[in-house]
Amino acid sequence: MAFLRETHYFPSMLLGSKREIVVLKFGEKTGKKAYIQANLHADEAPGVLVLFHLEKMLKEADKKGDVDGEIVIVPSANPIGQSQWNHGRIDGRFDNKTGVNFNRDFPDVTEEVAELINGKLSSDEKGNISLIRSAISTVIKGIETVNESEYLKKYLYSLAYDSDIVLDLHCDFDGISHIYLGTPLWENSKDLSKQMGAKATLLSRCSGGDPFDEACSKIYWELAEKFPKHPIPLACLSATIELRGRCDVTHEIAKKDAENIFIFLQRRGFIKGQCPDLPELKNEATPLEGVQQIQSNNSGVIVYNKEPGDSVVKGDLIAEIINPLANEVSTVKSETSGILFTRRSNRLATNGLIIGRVAGKEELEGKGKFLLSP
Ligand SMILES: [Zn+2]
Repeated sequence: MAFLRETHYFPSMLLGSKREIVVLKFGEKTGKKAYIQANLHADEAPGVLVLFHLEKMLKEADKKGDVDGEIVIVPSANPIGQSQWNHGRIDGRFDNKTGVNFNRDFPDVTEEVAELINGKLSSDEKGNISLIRSAISTVIKGIETVNESEYLKKYLYSLAYDSDIVLDLHCDFDGISHIYLGTPLWENSKDLSKQMGAKATLLSRCSGGDPFDEACSKIYWELAEKFPKHPIPLACLSATIELRGRCDVTHEIAKKDAENIFIFLQRRGFIKGQCPDLPELKNEATPLEGVQQIQSNNSGVIVYNKEPGDSVVKGDLIAEIINPLANEVSTVKSETSGILFTRRSNRLATNGLIIGRVAGKEELEGKGKFLLSP
């Protein structure tokens, strides 16, 4: 199959305006599929540049007939967020109309799919995967959407649900490369963290926020639990890859990231050819329940004492908050030991603002069911 650049138009929900998403397709449909998107949070640029470079690499490979299976990439997955420019700044994380985070509340279809496949599973793993994917497709088609944001989520899910590999590229304000992954996937997906050079991998069985990556992967371990007498493999390795901070955008970095994704796909059999040796894992994965959201305890100017990537121990000074109006200097300390993996890029804090996150090895108490940032 020749390289395809397709444009999908949203049904118009605003008088006089039309949204579109460009989808790039490489290779051919053989039942093997990888899906990669960027910019779901529309204010996050690094992944867009990574996919710009990956497109070139994949075109080259496709021309040589080296793509084995289908690779689909969406370089900019959120035209709604792209339109949310206000006073010279883009607000791309939350839908301005609904206030909902663009990477939360993706459809959770496990219960509906379980009803559809009940009594139809067999002892054949591949047959079960096909049955599940066909049921997911049926459920997706039946999802009614009442606003553009819901339509966007349904559409992106429909592009990705039948993939063996799903990579959703994001970034933080200021941070080191890290990956969010389903706990059951970790054992067989260390090659992703190793190849991407991730300095933290955060695992959860259910993050509580229904992000895009979980919509694609969680259903398999949930169905395996519901139907223990039938083999249901973890048929989709889906991950959210956080490519450092939002200003870490250079051709050099993006090319390296694109190359790492290319090699990962090669190692996974989507591209022919010999791939280089797998790098060592930078840091062992840690539970998402172990992430300490470090909150400011005053309003004022944040003066950090630690850099992203620094190891910290419980009690270490993370930052000072300078409140000149009260002539106060408040200290913010880590309540766990681990790696400081994100910080804010803006140095002004309100009282209670999350100003950084530490990936700790130990699960923290009182985290509740919602483990992701708002
Ligand atoms: Zn993001």
